[in-house]
Amino acid sequence: MQLSFEFFPPRTDQGKLNLKQVRQELSAIKPHYFSTTFGAGGTTQEATLETVLDIQANDGVSAAPHLSCIDSEKSKILALLSQYKAAGINRIVALRGDIPSGVRDIGDFHYASELVAFIRHEFNDHFHIEVAAYPEMHPQAKNMNTDIQHFANKMKAGANSAITQYFYNADAYFRFVDDVQKLGIDAPITPGIMPITNHTQLLRFSNMCGSEIPRWIEKRLAVFGDDLESLSAFGLEVVDNLCDQLKSQGVENFHFYTMNKSQPSLQLAKNLL
Ligand code: FAD
Repeated sequence: MQLSFEFFPPRTDQGKLNLKQVRQELSAIKPHYFSTTFGAGGTTQEATLETVLDIQANDGVSAAPHLSCIDSEKSKILALLSQYKAAGINRIVALRGDIPSGVRDIGDFHYASELVAFIRHEFNDHFHIEVAAYPEMHPQAKNMNTDIQHFANKMKAGANSAITQYFYNADAYFRFVDDVQKLGIDAPITPGIMPITNHTQLLRFSNMCGSEIPRWIEKRLAVFGDDLESLSAFGLEVVDNLCDQLKSQGVENFHFYTMNKSQPSLQLAKNLL
């Protein structure tokens, strides 16, 4: 089983200290890699580089930077990838990123598939390329069929494997994997697991990224109010059951959206081992 954990680059000194501690705790279970988001949620791209280099140099765990290409130029992407290669990094999570509102000139790349092809062209097989997958459809896609076709094209452009957006409905994941296999894609599609610890934040994320919170879960989260302890206990049970269901149907790799907290990702991961 391969487990990976995702962080966002901290902006404050306290945030950096906290993340160091989190990384140390998670390192104990020998993760496959630690990934770090890029430019998401207002974080700076320099902070990604700093976090990634720190992980690669100090954690004894491979670092995998996310790299989004929207609103960027080939020369900038090339320079960053060269820096990663020089630091011994050989895994990239290649993304389009969200189009900033009001931006008309979106740069040299329009879709993640173009970034994947560019990385393959410039670096041959040096990087293992992960891409994003959406079992419940990317929110801007025209429909599920075109989204799946675009995903397949992205894989065929040279990606090695994929990580999904989070979901709480295992059927959506298995149906997605079946559908892409019918298009000739057998590469691993790792479920992205989002622990449930905060009702308001989860609603906000899900509104943005299109992940459905099943009604029964939403209704139960709504009654916990300020009782975060009970909410977290319920969330842990729900997500633990999801992981069990995935594992029992043959899933071997799991990617955790840690939100820079070691618990409950660590608890969920330990339950899988
Ligand atoms: P794409 O694969 O390019 O798809 C985007 C949309 O375009 C889809 O609707 C697709 O159907 C459509 N499309 C693709 N190709 C074509 C085509 N040829 N013609 C017409 N339509 C097409 N965001 C960040 O900013 N930073 C991060 O670090 C980050 N990490 C992420 C990690 C994971 C695992 C996931 C699942 C998402 C992450 N995101 C991140 C969010 C991601 O950037 C957004 O979801 C973004 O809107 C789409 O990126 P993508 O790489 O999936 O795009």
